[in-house]
Amino acid sequence: MYSDRITSLPPYLFATIDAAKANMKAKGVDVIDLGVGDPDQPTPPHIVDSMCDAVRNPATHRYPSYTGMLSFREAATNWCKESRGLDLDPATEALTLIGSKEGVAHLPLAFINPGDIALCPDPAYPVYKIGTEFAGGKAHIMPLLEENDFLPDLEAISKDVLAKTKMMFLNYPNNPTSATADTKFFEEVVQFARENNIVVIHDNAYSEMCYDGYKAPSFLSVDGAMEVGMELYSLSKTYNMTGWRLAFAVGNKEAIQGFGKVKSNIDSGAFDAIQMAGITALSSSQQCVADMNKIYEERRDVLLKGLNGIGLDVKAPKATFYVWTPVPDGHDSIGFSKLLLEEAGIVATPGVGFGEHGEGYIRFALTQTAERISEAVGRMEKLTI
Ligand SMILES: *Cc1c(COP(=O)(O)O)cnc(C)c1O
Repeated sequence: MYSDRITSLPPYLFATIDAAKANMKAKGVDVIDLGVGDPDQPTPPHIVDSMCDAVRNPATHRYPSYTGMLSFREAATNWCKESRGLDLDPATEALTLIGSKEGVAHLPLAFINPGDIALCPDPAYPVYKIGTEFAGGKAHIMPLLEENDFLPDLEAISKDVLAKTKMMFLNYPNNPTSATADTKFFEEVVQFARENNIVVIHDNAYSEMCYDGYKAPSFLSVDGAMEVGMELYSLSKTYNMTGWRLAFAVGNKEAIQGFGKVKSNIDSGAFDAIQMAGITALSSSQQCVADMNKIYEERRDVLLKGLNGIGLDVKAPKATFYVWTPVPDGHDSIGFSKLLLEEAGIVATPGVGFGEHGEGYIRFALTQTAERISEAVGRMEKLTI
């Protein structure tokens, strides 16, 4: 019955974890879930109020525009100007997305012919690779290794591969490693993309989730980046809006236009009322973002202190709400997360779920209160590992 495309999908590890978690809960265990990367706090009230007003207006009930409301794209480009100094034309250099997952999954349809290659990091958000393969392309893995600060080694990519390469996916601040990239790296990427005719997609889902005064640079702020690529910004993690499905792409005019063509043939845009709430999020005070970051920073410090206390050598991440932790000697990532769940009732994601180069690590998400994280740390201290 099924297409090769879905029959060849790897078994979905996260479904297995969900089943194991449900099994522990059924046994009455008080499970502390540090697995999912989904903010636990609600969407700020001013954004919710804005949606309530908008949804009562019948004008929002009809088909939205394919490219997104111009007023939302204006709010998005103004936000990019204010937060990172980018000069973007809302009419031609911005596109509303139904979440950046939708964007990532459909982007390859605009640039990939069967057999073409997209460069995909590993470990990574799985959709880069799957989106490429669904479009008939091949994913070429760029390993993200600790010895390279979890940045890809562009020089390691062979000429044969580059001859067929059309796209590259990047994501900094990074899920799952929480690594960051500096402007110098982005400059190298721009030059590399120019030399090899590659469209660069920088997934900036964690753009605002930064700590200790760190500010993540924008790929588009580098000279020449507007010629080679685009950047995806999401309201999901920034404003606790994962359920709302709202994001936007900004960048190279031609690339945005090509992607718009794909989208106008697949979806009918994001609900206008949601885009109106998005305008409120992007154009109001950003204090709610700073407040969330303070909360995550406190949780991070509690977890870090606990992990270091049990002898796991982890550095405090500057960004994202993930703590990428090497597993103790003698364990692999699945084995260690199984031990955490069965012996301590803690859910963490095995690194191998993000690709083969994630082996040897587990990912904790800071999506529980400091008290619950502290409880998790206490349970870990009692483990013999
Ligand atoms: C969470 C996440 C997304 C998904 O964002 P949505 O806008 O909710 O679709 C995209 N990329 C990465 C790396 C993520 O971690």
